[in-house]
Amino acid sequence: MNRIYFDHAATTPLDKRVFEKMTPYFTEIAGNANSQHYFGREAMKAVDEARDKIASLIGARPSEIYFTSGGTEADNWALRGIAQAFKNKGRHMIISKIEHAAMITTAAELEKQGFEFTYLGVDENGVVDLEELERSIRPDTIFIGVMYANNEVGTIEPVKEVARIAKEHGITCFSDCVQAMGAIPVNVKDLGVDLLSFSAHKFYGPKGIGALYIRNGLPMGRIITGGHQERTKRGGTTNVPAVVGFAEALSIAEKELDENAKYVSGLRDRFIDRVLSEIPFVKLNGHRTQRLPNNADISFEYIEGESILFSLDLEGIAVSSGSACSSGSLEPSHVLLAMGVDEALAHGSIRFTFGKHNTVEEVDYAVDKLKEIVARLRAMSPLFAEIKGEVKNV
Ligand SMILES: *Cc1c(COP(=O)(O)O)cnc(C)c1O
Repeated sequence: MNRIYFDHAATTPLDKRVFEKMTPYFTEIAGNANSQHYFGREAMKAVDEARDKIASLIGARPSEIYFTSGGTEADNWALRGIAQAFKNKGRHMIISKIEHAAMITTAAELEKQGFEFTYLGVDENGVVDLEELERSIRPDTIFIGVMYANNEVGTIEPVKEVARIAKEHGITCFSDCVQAMGAIPVNVKDLGVDLLSFSAHKFYGPKGIGALYIRNGLPMGRIITGGHQERTKRGGTTNVPAVVGFAEALSIAEKELDENAKYVSGLRDRFIDRVLSEIPFVKLNGHRTQRLPNNADISFEYIEGESILFSLDLEGIAVSSGSACSSGSLEPSHVLLAMGVDEALAHGSIRFTFGKHNTVEEVDYAVDKLKEIVARLRAMSPLFAEIKGEVKNV
């Protein structure tokens, strides 16, 4: 079967050029970067070069880049590290309602430890409310976190304005840039944030490696204690091949950013245009223009998203459903609910995220299959039969 991958927001395949850069560090140059001999020095040299490259690509200094096991750890560190470092100043933190689970779940943990959270709402396009942000700030607010681009609906957030507001009030500002990095330009100076997370496997780099940018001079607690790695702020033997791959993936992503954005947004727009015009009772979620180049999140009325996902999978097409399967029960996406999408519609949502290796033929094939699947599933839906009856009777 010809397999089609439209789930690039979940993860991307490793770029072959990145793989080639990484391989020597698994075998020939396999020293521990902290060892004081030739093999250690060679490994450390590679790590230093990678750190320099990554820092310069995002407008940071090398000493502001801390490697982590990925976006989840970087998000955890941002929240928990600031909670620890500033708990005597205050215990109130602000994040948006549409943050990734790495943030939402960590916030819930911190609430149990006595921190208080305000969850910022978004409008129907998924854009955070800046006036609500202003109103939510208190003397004891120590953290504001708004993601740069949402992983479900692709909406790009006004992070620069969020950071400006945070700065005016002397509050630490963080942005989860895991989806944005490599897809749209990201520069820490331009955004004005104090902390920023990103992860290599979202831009054709290896899984299990990410980073937290921590502005020099910012007080910061630790969550992983151990050896002296990462300037004693994050213990654990450095994953040298992953770090090397991370830097290479980011430099390729930045070099080819315009070209890729143009290409994948072309695929996305063709997909959206065809779906909206050829399939009845569908709705595009997220901002129409202020969105990631590769994201199309669509609600199909009168059907369960999971049924579409499984049917597409049988046809060899990989997508993601808006609902997350938690503790055996299917809960609708917290992002769509925050945007005011009603629960039934949220259950019928599917995320299609395109990548640089996808083709127009794949898009067209997927739309053709999708039309068949949606028609078939709706034909089996008693609710849809009823609605159709009503439509006809009007
Ligand atoms: C994927 C993702 C994460 C988690 O990153 P991992 O490296 O997979 O742990 C965090 N935030 C957003 C917005 C993401 O898309």
